[in-house]
Amino acid sequence: APTVGVLALQGDFREHANVLRGLGADVTLVRRPSELAAVDGLVIPGGESSVMDKLSRTFGLAEPLKEAIEGGLPIYGTCAGLIMLANTIVDGIRGQQSLGGLDVSVRRNAFGSQGDSFETDLDIPALGEHPLHAVFIRAPIVEDVGPKATALAELADGRVVAVEQGNLLGTSFHPEVTGDTRFHEYFLAKIRAA
Ligand code: GLN
Repeated sequence: APTVGVLALQGDFREHANVLRGLGADVTLVRRPSELAAVDGLVIPGGESSVMDKLSRTFGLAEPLKEAIEGGLPIYGTCAGLIMLANTIVDGIRGQQSLGGLDVSVRRNAFGSQGDSFETDLDIPALGEHPLHAVFIRAPIVEDVGPKATALAELADGRVVAVEQGNLLGTSFHPEVTGDTRFHEYFLAKIRAA
């Protein structure tokens, strides 16, 4: 079984760990560079990206994470994790930085107070015919998809909410809370193929 790390600085890392264990992966919670060095893939969970950014630098993980991204480690970011993987954050707060890797621009909390939290079904051809029920929680939107990245899912209005680029995968929403494990299975397949 692949060893899959879940970045455990902040956010809903336990939910991801549970889903991945349920799919047969060996899961490591990653809080230090030595733990990162031992995984075959990594999930960056939802939470608060500005806090995760700060903690990743405090814990000496920001540089090792950037090197892992460059080195081709499969990494899946959900919500705040997607923000961490974006090359550009259009509205980061207080000097917020991202790790980068995905050729996209994201806007944080893009749905305003009314759409703070909502659920919808998405057609995602990469996951098969059956729509995916997606839960958005203070979610970012992908405002711009550069030539190196591919959109995997869009809302009915065309706004992009899932992207892929080589070893990297990102979703605005939270597949770890719905019981539909197809995104995690898709990610595990990427790890096995890497
Ligand atoms: N709004 C959060 C951020 O900017 C993301 C929310 C989430 O991960 N559920 O990081």
